[in-house]
Amino acid sequence: MSDFEGLKALVTGGASGIGRATAELLAARGAQVAVLDLDPEGVQKPLLGYQADVGDDESVRRAVAAAVADLGGLDVLVNNAGIGAQGTVEDNDDEDWHRVMNVNVVGMVRTSRAALPHLRKSSHAAVVNTCSIAATAGLPQRALYSASKGAVLSLTLAMAADHIREGIRVNCVNPGTADTPWVGRLLDAAPDPAAERAALEARQPTGRLVSADEVAGAIAYLASPLSGATTGTALAVDGGMQGLRLRPA
Ligand code: NAD
Repeated sequence: MSDFEGLKALVTGGASGIGRATAELLAARGAQVAVLDLDPEGVQKPLLGYQADVGDDESVRRAVAAAVADLGGLDVLVNNAGIGAQGTVEDNDDEDWHRVMNVNVVGMVRTSRAALPHLRKSSHAAVVNTCSIAATAGLPQRALYSASKGAVLSLTLAMAADHIREGIRVNCVNPGTADTPWVGRLLDAAPDPAAERAALEARQPTGRLVSADEVAGAIAYLASPLSGATTGTALAVDGGMQGLRLRPA
């Protein structure tokens, strides 16, 4: 992996899980990294933290402008902030759909819109969106979440086409079940968290969950000049779940 010396990156949802691992990896590789998060309290130096809600346009514009001013430019945007939703179409009402689509899809549109004028000035511009295997797997009990990630996949392809001649690459990663605080919260809500975790691990082709660091590694690759000829792709980081045509139980 080439290093990110001299590059400036912005990671949304960078205070926890996949975003945090990504921000720390990019910084360890030499990037100057700004984290934009609902709750940036735990963000530590050398990372720069900015409070923002990707569900709110004014908040995003303010935080992106502040981050780019402090960084002195922008080369890499990692659109990672996202929230979950469970259930079938009968379980989620319109309010749920607006809330989740607003964060998971329009949130990425907002940060991209704010970042693109700055990315155009970079000679190594890359956008990486955190999508999910849910975009194409047909997971049960995840109608709203899957639809939101399907939209992220389509958005990634459309943006890649729109900005290729401007030298801006746009790709996404499709993580499988990753061991982050998000999944920890879901497991903690189960009657027997340890048994639930064991069952979840047993359903993985590898027998274990994907780590946040493994997803971060894929994001860093797509953000780095090493992937300079790659745009409009989705990189699976799912322990073989999709490539091997295995379905979660
Ligand atoms: P996480 O809950 O550990 O971290 C998410 C971070 O995003 C948190 O710091 C949170 O404060 C921030 N955030 C949430 N809503 C926000 C908003 N409106 N504005 C700004 N920040 C906001 O979650 P994670 O597991 O690291 O997930 C990160 C991304 O990875 C999400 O897009 C998720 O859909 C995707 N993903 C996760 C998994 C998994 O199994 N964990 C699998 C596939 C995809």
